[in-house]
Parts: sequence; structure tokens; C-alpha cells
Amino acid sequence: MSTRDFHLTKTGQVTPCPHCGNQTNFRCRSEQCAEDCCEVWVECWECGFDPTQENIGSRYEDTWGGCNEETIPMALSVWDDLLADRPEMYDQYVARWRQANGHSTKREAT
Ligand SMILES: [Zn+2]
Repeated sequence: MSTRDFHLTKTGQVTPCPHCGNQTNFRCRSEQCAEDCCEVWVECWECGFDPTQENIGSRYEDTWGGCNEETIPMALSVWDDLLADRPEMYDQYVARWRQANGHSTKREAT
């Protein structure tokens, strides 16, 4: 598992986090899921919201994984795909996520 925090310089580039409204600070995560396959996804840096938590299959898959200039945009587009133009899913994700994470609003220092 590797992680990398990154920041978007402009707002409006991606769908804001449905939980806290953040749209510039994110954390990219990469985890090996098979011998020659890694999953890469993005979560909100402010509150830790992860729309792929209930949709593991939607995570971007990459042979080598890692959080870099190639994988981050792909993972970010998954974030956007999952949240944009789907208000009904949006609410569902947030409700489930809040339930699973006990309403925590701030990420604990790691
Ligand atoms: Zn958030």
C-alpha cells in the first residue's frame, strides 16, 4: 500500500466531496490486489471519504500501481465518474460511508 497526498490548484476540476465539500485536497492510494495488478483510487484528504469503498470494482487497475502522474488522473476520473450526475448514488455513498466511519469529520493523523 502506498499513498500520496496531492492538491489541485483550481476548484471546479472535479466533483466536490459530498461529505465536506472539499475539491482540492486529495489522497491517492495504491494497493496490490493480485500478483500483477494494483488498484489505485482517490479519497478526500479532509474527511477521508472514499466513493470506491462500496464499489471496489470501479477502482482504476494498473499493472504496477503506485501514485504518480499517470495513475492519479485516472483515479481522479473514477472519483468524478462515481459522483458526478448521480445525485441518488451520491447520497447513498455518503450515508454508507458515514455509517462505516462513525461520522468522523477529520482524518486522524497517520
Ligand atoms: Zn471530504
